[in-house]
Amino acid sequence: MLWYPYAQMKTIEPPIKIVSAQGVHLYTEDGHDLIDSISSWWSVIHGYNNSRINNVIKEQLDKFAHVMLGGISHEPVRKLSDKLASWLPGDLNYCFFSDSGSVAVEVALKMALQFNTNRGSDRSVILALRHAYHGDTFKAMEVGDDDDYHFAFAGCGGKKRGVIHIPTETAALENAFDVYGEQLSCFIVEPLLQGAGGMRMYDISFLERARRLCDQNDVLLIFDEVATGFGRTGNRFVADLVLPDILVLGKALTGGYIGHAVTVANQRVWDGFYSDNPAHALMHGPTFMGNALACRAALESIKLFEEGNYIEKIKQIEQITRRELRGFSSDKIEEIRIMGGCVCMEVKDAKYLEGYRRWAYERGVFSRPFLKYLYAMVPYIIEEWELVKVLDVMKSWFSRGK
Ligand SMILES: *Cc1c(COP(=O)(O)O)cnc(C)c1O
Repeated sequence: MLWYPYAQMKTIEPPIKIVSAQGVHLYTEDGHDLIDSISSWWSVIHGYNNSRINNVIKEQLDKFAHVMLGGISHEPVRKLSDKLASWLPGDLNYCFFSDSGSVAVEVALKMALQFNTNRGSDRSVILALRHAYHGDTFKAMEVGDDDDYHFAFAGCGGKKRGVIHIPTETAALENAFDVYGEQLSCFIVEPLLQGAGGMRMYDISFLERARRLCDQNDVLLIFDEVATGFGRTGNRFVADLVLPDILVLGKALTGGYIGHAVTVANQRVWDGFYSDNPAHALMHGPTFMGNALACRAALESIKLFEEGNYIEKIKQIEQITRRELRGFSSDKIEEIRIMGGCVCMEVKDAKYLEGYRRWAYERGVFSRPFLKYLYAMVPYIIEEWELVKVLDVMKSWFSRGK
């Protein structure tokens, strides 16, 4: 029996069975053609069945699929780390691979904590954002701030020790540094766009202020760009605008082909581990880190991103979205938010979205709203008519029966 994610198995709606996929389309066992409006959890940026990514994976498969990185190295992983080092902004040059975003976040937090112990500092408090989501492993949940995930800590006194959550407001940020500045090891954020916490968007000035406060207080700034990386906010990376000390990438890293993630450190963090003392080494090593198939897929995905003028494509997606939603409103909707390749309709009550998945399915769109959030994060290769259709289905839900 298969156990599905985030689901009560007793009352789960039967999942939609997919038999093939092409471009932005999912084809179901019962003959439906669905536009995937959420890119398989925001990862499939080039759409499905991309011939170029398919080909590099096939080519690599005939050499070898995987070798461990403990004591062994291979060209695809070295090429990918070189590519990331030159492609990413500033001195974000040191790539530690892992198999999922959650683990890459764990690695980032571990780096920040050990960076301090290596230099004999006892800074151990982590600053994070209200409504944050950083993954489902324990430390990632702890820096996250989502009621759904808190039950896991109920047995441990219900309180997260050593993590402070603040709203994305400058006054709260300044206050947190005033009170905890000396104890903080790092400040971790999903920059500009908080995804699983409800597609919440905030201003770059908050991050600029955070950068300055981190510098003044000797605190590492971590950007979790697992969701925002590779163009989702309309920027290639938010790190292009404000430079973090540690950057975490996942989801779209492999174009959504194979689970893989990377934690990228800057020179200063790297230097904090680089020493003659063996105890200063980073003691982490996921079995499948640097998987050769994943690295080849990632390299090709980055090529597609660069050659395909994706930032322009994402701008178009944002423009079309704004155009289609101009003047649209409903008394059930609290707020409509748009940023780059993300649109979210937050409703006033979660019950207003009950039945939406089915409604969309019957109209040729795959969607998976959660809580009060109906959103779309489409593959960047989507055609205008397909995007308009996704938005029309969203709008029609609120005007049905009128
Ligand atoms: C999805 C997500 C993660 C977790 O990634 P997994 O690959 O699912 O472990 C972490 N951080 C953010 C911001 C995410 O959106």
